[in-house]
Amino acid sequence: MRKKKKTPKHVLNQAARLFAFMDERPERPQVKRVNTILELLVAIRNEKRFDEKAELIDRVQKAFGRYRWARVIFWGAPGNDQTNIRSHVFITPAKRHPEDDTWEYGAIHILLVIAEYYPDYLSKIERCDVCSRWMLARKSDHRFCSGKCRQYDYDNDPARKEQHRANMRRLYRVERERAEWGAKNARRK
Ligand SMILES: [Zn+2]
Repeated sequence: MRKKKKTPKHVLNQAARLFAFMDERPERPQVKRVNTILELLVAIRNEKRFDEKAELIDRVQKAFGRYRWARVIFWGAPGNDQTNIRSHVFITPAKRHPEDDTWEYGAIHILLVIAEYYPDYLSKIERCDVCSRWMLARKSDHRFCSGKCRQYDYDNDPARKEQHRANMRRLYRVERERAEWGAKNARRK
């Protein structure tokens, strides 16, 4: 099996900031559109049937289709040396809702960069099992957004509760047997 790589902390923090915007503004159309794309990406990952997967891929391509960027070369202030040239910057279209639109384009841009350069991260985009917030998992099998949600799941896991009851029953039985054994031995003396 391939060794699972841990996601670096700064990437986790960036992702957390990006997703926090969604938690705070779930009703915004920009957030809903990104949410749809994330849902599709997870669905594609989980879908094993060929036709269904193809149809999901088609839907996500269409969803990406609305985003358009222009690339321009950017020069620094005159007199600065050539190292000040950045190869290109992305210019997003005129915005009616600057903050939400900037966030949306930023989120989509990051998804595209991830898909191209860090495909491993794509498989780590998950919803938290407890609160269903979006998150970038530290490892691909991590299921919770925070220690709080992990603890909640731990405390409320039915299997674990049953295990706990079974342990208590066994403990009780062992103690009873020990007490009976003690009583028997006491009688023998
Ligand atoms: Zn959570």
